[in-house]
Formats: sequence, structure tokens, C-alpha cells
Amino acid sequence: MNVFVTARLPREVMAKIEQEHSIETHGEDRPIGRNELLAGVEGKDGLLCTITDLIDLEVFDLAPGLKIVANNGVGFDHIDIETATRRGIPVSNTPGVLTDSTADLTFALILAAARRVVEGDKMTRSGRFTFWAPFHFLGQDVSGKTLGVVGFGRIGRAVAKRAAGFDMKVLYYSRNPLQKDEDERLGVCFTPLDALLKESDFVSLHVPLRAETRHLIGERELSMMKSSACLINTARGPIVDERSLVEALRQGRIGAAGLDVYEKEPELTPGLAELDNVVLMPHSGSATIETRTRMAVMSADNLLAGLRGQRPPNCLNWDALSR
Ligand code: NAP
Repeated sequence: MNVFVTARLPREVMAKIEQEHSIETHGEDRPIGRNELLAGVEGKDGLLCTITDLIDLEVFDLAPGLKIVANNGVGFDHIDIETATRRGIPVSNTPGVLTDSTADLTFALILAAARRVVEGDKMTRSGRFTFWAPFHFLGQDVSGKTLGVVGFGRIGRAVAKRAAGFDMKVLYYSRNPLQKDEDERLGVCFTPLDALLKESDFVSLHVPLRAETRHLIGERELSMMKSSACLINTARGPIVDERSLVEALRQGRIGAAGLDVYEKEPELTPGLAELDNVVLMPHSGSATIETRTRMAVMSADNLLAGLRGQRPPNCLNWDALSR
């Protein structure tokens, strides 16, 4: 069968697909353009895409024989799952294999924002480290503070696990609270969102992007946070109203932010890059050699299963498919 792969993947992963199918790909390490995507997917049986490809009605119309959309990433807000489901097309993602690397980066942002790591690096390199003084260049403690995790799924829980090593108190808000004994076992406490925002020193976002989570954190929510609090977002940019965030950071209404994702990625809201109290990463939560390799293997396995007419191991819509 004919497969379109929208990004460069490890050679051994491509070889595995090629043992059974013929692949078309640009093979470069860059996001594919819209016209390239449309031309590439036309008439294909399988699609292996990434999180920067918009897989909408136009794409599905061009490939009426599509048997599988295998996404190389866990977030699937860029895929029109409803249309896929209506047309009987399985859609898969790569859950779990990127949990630890994304939680690690979340903690890197917590520490970097609290201890002003990036600002300190710039200061030192530029020759402005000229003295030590008791109250010079102070940050804030992470150990012993309160962390509020918003969205207590795989990554949220992995962040909470790391927080335990820093003796942090962990509050969480999620769609479905855990059982009380599970809260106790994990040493966490379900807290309604407003209360979590008021009580936390660090607020870390781990919900998926959906209609109901778009701008979950806006001016109202930011105004509830402590003036020293840090907001960390390694989930999806549009979960935060970035304009309100820039204003809150500029006016010192919150202390700092650590961001891996942006509302209009890869563009930044004007003013964001000029602020010293924000640490910015280029959407790198899963960007380690080991994790990206595991993601590629997983998405290829899903693709191959879908092309064989089998249930992809990480199918998002199998039970809902009209077959
Ligand atoms: P997950 O296991 O599905 O966890 C998401 C959690 O959010 C679940 O507990 C879910 O509750 C909860 N949730 C969903 N909608 C909610 C709402 N409206 N209000 C409150 N809680 C809600 O997903 P994950 O693997 O942890 O990944 C989380 C997100 O991280 C992904 O969707 C992706 O966008 C992002 N991500 C980013 C990077 C990066 O490179 N920066 C890497 C990986 C993932 P239920 O259990 O009830 O569904």
C-alpha cells in the first residue's frame, strides 16, 4: 500500500514500514507546508503525521481510501477525529513513551523560573557578574513549596512524582478526581481550580487542548495567583491567554513563567521575549533522542497495524468507529 510520512523519522523505522509498503516523504527535518501535505496525502492508504500537520476535512477528502492516521505525538488537537471516526478511519497517538521526558522538562522550567537560571546565565556570560552580596540576584525556593498540577493524567502525575523528591505539597485539579485512598497513596490532594490557583506557588498545566480548555488560564485566573507564583505550560499554548500572561508578568502580578508551548506557535505574543521573568523553550517536551525514537517506533507500529486492518495498539477512536 502507499503511505505518506510527513516528517523525517529514524532510518530503521522507515525501513520497517518499507518492508510492507511504499513510502512517500520529503525526508527532511522540517514541518511540511500545507500544499506539500495536500499533494502528498492524495490517494494514500496510510498517513503518518506529526503535531504540526493540520489533518482536517480537506485532507480526508483527498484520501478517501485512508486506512489509518498515525500521529507521531500524544496531543491530537490538530486532527479532526470526528470526521475520521465518521469515515471509519482509526487515529492513533503515542501515549506514555514521552511522559518522563516531558515531566523532566516541566521540572527544568520550574527550577529555571524559580532560580532565574537563564537570566543568570546571560548575566554571567555578558560580564555583569561582578560581585556577590547577600541580597543580590535572589530567586525563590522550590523545595517545600506548593505545586498545583492542572490535568492529572500521565504527565501531570509524573510531575507530581518528581515534586515529591523536592518535598513539595501537591494539589491537583482534573476532570475526574481520584479515589480518596489513591490521593493518599500518591500524597496529593484534589483541589478545585480556583482554590489551586490561589494556594499554589507553582502552577503546571497538563490538560489536553480542547474547546473547554482553550484559555483555561486567562486574566481572571492569573489574577487569583500569588504575586510570587510561577506558571508553567508544557501542554499546549492556547490553554493560556498569552496576551493576559504577558501583562501579568510585565506588571508583576505573577512572579515568573516557564513556557514550552505558545498560543500561535511558533510566533510569540509581542512583549513575551523581552521579559526577564520568563523562560522560553521551543516546544521540546519530548525532544530527547531516546523519546523521539520511541515515538517514531510506536507511530510506525500503529500505522502498520492500521494498514493490516487490525486495531492499532494506541488507537484513539476504535470503539467509536462506524464499521
Ligand atoms: P493524559 O494522560 O490524557 O492527561 C490529561 C489529563 O487532563 C487527564 O487526567 C484528563 O482527565 C485531564 N483533563 C482533560 N480535560 C480536562 C478538563 N477540561 N479539565 C480538567 N482536566 C482535564 O495526557 P498526557 O499524556 O498527560 O498529555 C497531556 C498533554 O500534554 C497532551 O494532550 C499534549 O497536548 C501535551 N504534551 C506536550 C508535550 C510537549 O512537547 N510540550 C509533550 C507531550 C504532551 P480524564 O482522565 O478525565 O480524561
